[in-house]
Amino acid sequence: MNAEIIAVGSELLLGQIVNSNAQFISKNLADIGVNIFYHTVAGDNERRLSSAVQTAMSRSNLLIFTGGLGPTKDDLTKETIAKLFHKELVHDEASLRYITNYFAQTNREMTDNNKKQALIIKDATVLPNENGMAPGMAFTQDEITCILLPGPPSEMKPMFLKYAIPFLLSKMDVQTRLYSRVLKFFGIGESILETKIQDLIEEQTNPTIAPLASEHEVTIRLTAAHIDQEEAKKLLDETESEIVRRTSAFFYGYENDTLEKQAMDSLLKRNATVASAESLTGGLFGRIMTDQPGSSAVFKGGIVAYSNELKKNLLSVPDSLIKEHGAVSEDCAEWMAEHIKNIAKTDYGISFTGVAGPEQQEEKTVGTVFVGIAGPQETKVFHLKLAGTRNSIREKTVKHGLYLLNQ
Ligand code: ATP
Ligand code: MG
Repeated sequence: MNAEIIAVGSELLLGQIVNSNAQFISKNLADIGVNIFYHTVAGDNERRLSSAVQTAMSRSNLLIFTGGLGPTKDDLTKETIAKLFHKELVHDEASLRYITNYFAQTNREMTDNNKKQALIIKDATVLPNENGMAPGMAFTQDEITCILLPGPPSEMKPMFLKYAIPFLLSKMDVQTRLYSRVLKFFGIGESILETKIQDLIEEQTNPTIAPLASEHEVTIRLTAAHIDQEEAKKLLDETESEIVRRTSAFFYGYENDTLEKQAMDSLLKRNATVASAESLTGGLFGRIMTDQPGSSAVFKGGIVAYSNELKKNLLSVPDSLIKEHGAVSEDCAEWMAEHIKNIAKTDYGISFTGVAGPEQQEEKTVGTVFVGIAGPQETKVFHLKLAGTRNSIREKTVKHGLYLLNQ
């Protein structure tokens, strides 16, 4: 099946809302092996909607509509589709009863408009709306399947999963499904990662390999198509192990893993605790650690010492150290990490000092960062050279710290 999603609503065209329905539907269609070739957005205008549907009918055999099933005049999706497919609209008794009951129970007056919501395309399968009024519907004619869903995501999503997906599966003769796996990498750029696996990407057929750069991280989505889930898993396993063999230092987890979760789990496993001494990150590390439920078992707290005065007063950084090397230095990071570890009586101390910008500092360029990790045996300091805005430098710094704690 080649699918096209047509979202109806002028508010989408005006940029007042995001077309999140299309994203949700696409993702779930991909999961059952349906190709999605187009997303279309049409306003609440019969002529333009009609033209969009005709175009879709000429190139796709599964049309999925969201929006415009409501009671008001500008809701005209089913009317437009009925015309194009030469179908009548008829009252669906069950939906009409449901709507009448709803109005009786809430003591509200039912108008003819509301009755309009119970109109369905003749002979269509009704997709019950368990969270609202307007029922959805599905039908196939002239080898084109149409599925009509309401606009509000709270109504559309459950209807789609519970009723539209089973309807589609019953129509699909080939039972090939798509199985995806997401691999996550840190500390390597998208282009370097791609270079390492270029030949795999070029030869890819099944699974397909799709790298994607997101906030300071790179992910690779592997997608295998197979009738048998176990066979698909084997295909994914093989490709994953080849990719990880070439990039192992940077691979850190799967779709639902985050660096902070990995760091926390890794400390938990070792029964170890950590405290932080933060300068340029201004407490961001502490925030990210404490965002996680259960973090108190590993994170004891930290000191934010932004000024040199506080570095001296709260972390006892010697005046001579700052005079000789500066606060943005390997020596200062080492001192901060060891000192916080000692006063917090933790297994690890982590420190962050650097230049987030926009101005350089101590004649050190923007993006010069030192992360110190004082562990049970030794203290290591990592000198990073980061690029980006003030915020992204701070975020990358914390991510590096989390990544290093995980090592
Ligand atoms: P209603 O009975 O509420 O009028 P409807 O099926 O007629 O439902 P619309 O009037 O088109 O749907 O949209 C109702 C609301 O649903 C919108 O104001 C918007 O908040 C949300 N919505 C509609 N389409 C989308 C979409 N494509 N993505 C996300 N949200 C949407
Ligand atoms: Mg509406």
